[in-house]
Amino acid sequence: MTFELPKLPYELDALEPVISKRTLEFHHGKHHQAYVTNLNNLIKGTEFENASLETIVTKSEGGIFNNAAQVWNHTFYFFQFSPNGKHAPEGALAEAIVRDFGSFDAFKEQFTKAAATLFGSGWAWLSKDAQGKLVISQESNAGTPLKHSLTPIFTCDVWEHAYYLDKQNARPAYIDDFWKIVDWSVIEKRF
Ligand code: MN
Repeated sequence: MTFELPKLPYELDALEPVISKRTLEFHHGKHHQAYVTNLNNLIKGTEFENASLETIVTKSEGGIFNNAAQVWNHTFYFFQFSPNGKHAPEGALAEAIVRDFGSFDAFKEQFTKAAATLFGSGWAWLSKDAQGKLVISQESNAGTPLKHSLTPIFTCDVWEHAYYLDKQNARPAYIDDFWKIVDWSVIEKRF
């Protein structure tokens, strides 16, 4: 199948000042788009030509995996934001966070540390395992919990292209700000 760049569920300037319009123009309009274009070119004539994106991510390796996973990861990342979202989880997700991390603040601290200390390009993740336990993980480059039979719930893109135009090299400042635009109603549905 031919994959398409998903349209963002908000205007390009909606996440300012946390994530600028200029960053989204590049991050969504150029980087995310390039992964979609590369993937469509790479799967032509292969066993993945008619596969779903999730199947390609879990079954492929090399260049096809890198581009497929980056398409999936970016869509997952961009769709968890809102300029006026819910600022903290409630219900079953809130209970699971307290159960597995002690408190929402303790969870944020551990997740922030995972995102800040990931060396080089990659993603910090919150996922659910087969028993329903929440786990935080670091993945380099296009890495995704989908490869490890985990259910992703939430992510932070720490590739420099996610923050360099707004924060230059200050990844911790980007992560601190990032919490302000997360819409926890989206994350609750994923859980
Ligand atoms: Mn990115």
